[in-house]
Amino acid sequence: MSHPEEAAKFVANDERMHWHDKALWFVREKRDVSSKGIPEWEKLREYANNIKTHTMHKLDFYLEEFEKNATKKGIIVHWAKDAQEHNKIVHEILASHNVTKLVKSKSMLTEECHLNPYLESKGIEVIDTDLGERIVQLRKETPSHIVLPAIHLKKMDVSDTFHEHLGTEKGNDDPTYLTRAARASLREDFLTAQAGLTGVNFAISETGGIVVCTNEGNADMGASVPKLHIASMGIEKTIPRLKDLSVFTRLLARSATGQAITSYTSHYHGPVEGGEMHIVIVDNKRTPILADATYQKSLNCIRCGACMNTCPIYRRSGGHSYKYVIPGPIGSNLGAFRNPKEHKSLPFACTLCASCTNVCPVKIDLDSQLYAHRQDLAKKHLIDTKKAVAMKITSWVMDHPTLFNIGGKIMRKVIPMLPDSIIYSKANVWGKQRDIPKMPKNSFKELYKQRKDS
Ligand code: SF4
Repeated sequence: MSHPEEAAKFVANDERMHWHDKALWFVREKRDVSSKGIPEWEKLREYANNIKTHTMHKLDFYLEEFEKNATKKGIIVHWAKDAQEHNKIVHEILASHNVTKLVKSKSMLTEECHLNPYLESKGIEVIDTDLGERIVQLRKETPSHIVLPAIHLKKMDVSDTFHEHLGTEKGNDDPTYLTRAARASLREDFLTAQAGLTGVNFAISETGGIVVCTNEGNADMGASVPKLHIASMGIEKTIPRLKDLSVFTRLLARSATGQAITSYTSHYHGPVEGGEMHIVIVDNKRTPILADATYQKSLNCIRCGACMNTCPIYRRSGGHSYKYVIPGPIGSNLGAFRNPKEHKSLPFACTLCASCTNVCPVKIDLDSQLYAHRQDLAKKHLIDTKKAVAMKITSWVMDHPTLFNIGGKIMRKVIPMLPDSIIYSKANVWGKQRDIPKMPKNSFKELYKQRKDS
């Protein structure tokens, strides 16, 4: 199903849609206040952009340096060319340690690789330990946001889910009560799991260590209580030096939730005493992005979610409507690049307002990339026939100014006389949720001329 078809399901519940919109706008406003608290904010964004762009140009060097330094610290490094290889490596490590239960801290990469169902098919129980992730896992849903995975749910939904799966009191939707219930259940999982898996926010080449940023401390529990720690990272998570990290940590939490810093910024530079640490470095179709000058910058993403929080389409259509592991502007870019046929509607889920580009802490040109995708899709004949024909006609009319002016004049007179059955016919998809505005007497060009002459 296309994005508009999926979005229609979310939009059908008007109250929920407005609530979702407001909740995310609240986070966006917190981000604005927090970023304005740092006078050098724009400089930091520029640094981050430069560091990431430089790293991507020398990624082979930095990855090898990272592997060398991590190995020196006693970490076992693995390379996976795709999702299947990643899942196989993780399973082999777990199987060789007779692991039957794995606690996992939020990792979009493992979502991308569909690790949970793979391990479950091998008889290994996987528990997502981030609260939001745990809620969606219990509901057998996917995260609808990369930082706030359960933002599409209200507290009553969580109450019902916990009542069904954790045996909490029916109808009790007190957030403290529900959080305590989740914590008690997760504590049990941390103590009984034989292995922990975390994502990676930053992999530092110079030190061979990784950094994980969370607000709940769940990654720390998963990586420290069991003796076996596996970290899964995409190749793009690399940064050159330890001192580069401060640029990103100052940007990440402020962009994500408006916090000055995440509650936990944990460094892992080797296994726990008597334990084992593995890092799986995954490509999974990232190198073709790296090789493409137009889209390469999308690999600079630090997964803060700011582009989603600000996006007028995401806020009103919900993350699940994107049908790609990462929703919103960055997800639309990545999805359309990786599988243009399947995700051809995503670059059009955009008003090209550029709000995403303006908030992106690493200055990814998100709106320009979405615009470029539209052109690529047209060249590949992957856009809807009605849209392609309409665009051709529009382009032809706009290429002939006299015709455009005459057409405008006629339509301003004709449209008010047309019956609703024609104006709001199926051909006018815009009319589905909008009223056609009152036709002005004059065109913009005429008004401009009048004012200039007066
Ligand atoms: S594209 Fe930019 S704003 Fe969006 S998640 Fe990535 S870093 Fe954040």
